[in-house]
Amino acid sequence: MKTNAPLPAHTWPEMQPGWVWLCGAGPGDPGLLTLHALNALRQADVVIYDALVQEAILDWAPQAEHIYAGKRGGKPSAKQRDISLRLVDLARAGKRVLRLKGGDPFVFGRGGEEAQTLVQHGVPIRIIPGISAGIGGLAYAGIPVTHRDVNQSVTFVTGHDQSGNTPGSLDWASISKGSQVIVIYMGMKHIAQIAGQLIAAGRSIHEPVAVVTTATTADQKVLETTLGTITDDIATAGLEPPAIICVGQSVLMRQVLDWQGQAAGHPPRNLDPLSRGRPAESA
Ligand code: SAH
Repeated sequence: MKTNAPLPAHTWPEMQPGWVWLCGAGPGDPGLLTLHALNALRQADVVIYDALVQEAILDWAPQAEHIYAGKRGGKPSAKQRDISLRLVDLARAGKRVLRLKGGDPFVFGRGGEEAQTLVQHGVPIRIIPGISAGIGGLAYAGIPVTHRDVNQSVTFVTGHDQSGNTPGSLDWASISKGSQVIVIYMGMKHIAQIAGQLIAAGRSIHEPVAVVTTATTADQKVLETTLGTITDDIATAGLEPPAIICVGQSVLMRQVLDWQGQAAGHPPRNLDPLSRGRPAESA
């Protein structure tokens, strides 16, 4: 451990020269990093980070070189390869390399591809999971990603593929029928199309939807809307990516669980938004 306060008692892994640790940074709030991430930040020689990583997090790695590897909009795959090969080069140069990615590295973050390239080049790796925006971001908005009265499953889906189009391979009808709650990453660009497909597949135009932008940061915004009005409401509110879009009745739980609003002095709007008419924890 190179810096000040010790981590709690535990055998913390040591970063060895020539290794790459592929690490999730969580959705934004630095407090949502894991202790393994903090342990890595304190030891790294180089930190290569993405656009969605809050720069404040880099303050925990003052000894390291910080390299920005941002790319937005899901475009050039050549660039992705450049990033992977850069990681290989740094590892071969004997650096302790920390590859820091927003959320969880293996959730819509191409972490699997980077890790595969490293292994193919003989570079040893460690993977440190992170809190994905589709879970942590919704929690900060007061929306439980599963709730016993609402859903027994949840589908995480990406709103566009590598080419920037809505993924043609996605069967929106099946997703719509099979999952009471749908959590959409990268959905802002094609939201009109996505909402249209879900409605065409039988979801109600009145279905509750939440849009959470820059979740868990000081700029977090939450829009509560419906499938029928979401496109207009996003435009009216002037919301910009990054955003998590949650479709399903669990969005209503925000009326009782908007803990940030409550901390700011707004009382809960409805103590029983799903109208169960019974104590929440009865059997
Ligand atoms: N690996 C990341 C996802 C990367 S894909 C994770 O596990 O969270 C990038 C998409 O993630 C964004 O377009 C957005 O849909 C979502 N996202 C990431 N951070 C976010 C945040 N702080 N607020 C809202 N959405 C976020």
